[in-house]
Amino acid sequence: MFDVIVIGLGAMGSSTVYQLAFRGQKVLGIDQFTPPHSFGSSHGKSRIIRETYFEDPLYVPLVKRAYNGWAELQSRSGKRVLTRTGGLMMGAPDGAVVSGARASAVEHRLPYEELNANELRSRFPALRPSDDTVAIWEPRAGVLDPEAAIDAQLSLARAARAELRFGEKVTKWRATAEGVEVTTSSGTYAAARLVISAGPWMSELVPELALPLEIERNAVYWFDPLKAAEFTPNRLPVFIHEYAPGRTWYGFANFGDGVKVALHHEGETTTANNVRRAVSDSEIAGIRGLLKAFLPDANGALRTTSVCLYTNTPDENFILDRHPEHPAVFIASPCSGHGFKFSIAIGEAIADDLMGESRRFDLSPFSLARFARA
Ligand SMILES: Cc1cc2nc3c(=O)[nH]c(=O)nc-3n(C[C@H](O)[C@H](O)[C@H](O)COP(=O)(O)OP(=O)(O)OC[C@H]3O[C@@H](n4cnc5c(N)ncnc54)[C@H](O)[C@@H]3O)c2cc1C
Repeated sequence: MFDVIVIGLGAMGSSTVYQLAFRGQKVLGIDQFTPPHSFGSSHGKSRIIRETYFEDPLYVPLVKRAYNGWAELQSRSGKRVLTRTGGLMMGAPDGAVVSGARASAVEHRLPYEELNANELRSRFPALRPSDDTVAIWEPRAGVLDPEAAIDAQLSLARAARAELRFGEKVTKWRATAEGVEVTTSSGTYAAARLVISAGPWMSELVPELALPLEIERNAVYWFDPLKAAEFTPNRLPVFIHEYAPGRTWYGFANFGDGVKVALHHEGETTTANNVRRAVSDSEIAGIRGLLKAFLPDANGALRTTSVCLYTNTPDENFILDRHPEHPAVFIASPCSGHGFKFSIAIGEAIADDLMGESRRFDLSPFSLARFARA
C-alpha cells in the first residue's frame, strides 16, 4: 500500500513524486515510457521561464515560487537546469503579448524596461523588428532544460525512496474503500491517493469527466545561425513575438544545437497516439519566412525538427483539481502549452494539497467546475 501513486512522469508527475518523496511519503510513480522521453509534452531541450506573464497576472506568484524551486533543485542535484538570458515580449504596443506583459509587470512590480524598435536593434543585433514593434524586456527570464529537470527530479525522488516504474502503461484505476487501485500492463497497486498527470493522454484515464481538451501538434526547429556571434545565450534573450495580431512565434539563442524557433498555438488538432511526427516542407518554408523577416542571420541550414504536444483547455488555463467524484484523486496536467516553467511549483502545490497543508496558492482558477459553469 503506497501513500500516493502518480500516473505520468513528465513535467508535472516528476515534480510531484520528487516533492512527495522529500516529505517522506511512500510514493509510486508510473510511466508508459522511460522519462524523459520525446512522445509527450516535455522534450526539446529548452523551455522559456518568464515573469511578465502576458497570459494573466495570476500566474506571477506561481512562477516566482517556481524560481525558488528550480534553484533548490539545482543545488540538490548539482545539475544545471536554468540559464538566465533575460526575455523579450515583443509586438505591437497594444498587442496581447506586450500589453499583457506590461500589465503583469506593473501589477506585480516586476523589474522591466520597454524598448522601441531602434533600441531592440542596437541591443540585440540578431533581431530585425519592424519599426512599430516594441518589447517588454525582463531581466529574470531564461531557459529551462526540460530533460535535465525531469531527470534530476526523478533521480532525487528515487534517492528519497520513491519507487519508479517505467515502460508500464496504466490500463485502469478505481476508487476503493481505502483509496485507489491502479492496474498496469504489469500489475496492480494500491494507494491512499492518486495523482493523474498524464498530459496529452489525460482523457484516456478519466473518460467519465469528458474533459474539454484539445491536443495540438507543435513543430519546433533548430537552425544553424549564419552569424554565430549574434546568437550566443549572452547576446540573444529568449523572445516571444506577436508578429501579427494574435499570432506568435518564439525563439532561443544557440545552446550548441542551433537556434531553436517555433510557432505558438498554430498547430493542427491531433491525438497523443496518432500525431504526425514528420515535419513537412511547407511547415519548414513557413518558419523560414519568419526567420527571413525577423531573424535573418538564423536562417542557415536546418539541423533538426521535433514535434511536441500541447494539451489545451478552452480558456488556456490549467487544470489542477481533485476529481469531483473521487476526492482521493488529483488531476494535474493540461497546461495549454505554457506549463513547464511552473511545474516544480505545481508539484509542490499538489503535495501540499494531498498532505492537507495550507495552500500557498489559490488553485480555484484551475478548477474543473469552471467548465461546468461555462
Ligand atoms: C513545443 C512545446 C513548447 C513549449 N514551450 C514551453 C515553454 O517555453 N515554457 C513553458 O513553461 N511551457 C512550455 N510548454 C508546455 C510544457 O512543456 C507542458 O505544459 C508540460 O511539459 C506538460 O507536462 P505534463 O507532465 O503535463 O505532460 P507530459 O510531459 O506529456 O507527461 C505525461 C506523462 O504521462 C505518461 N502517461 C500518459 N498516460 C499514461 C498511462 N496510461 N500509463 C502510464 N503513463 C502514462 C506519458 O508517458 C508522459 O510521460 C511547451 C510545450 C510544447 C509541446
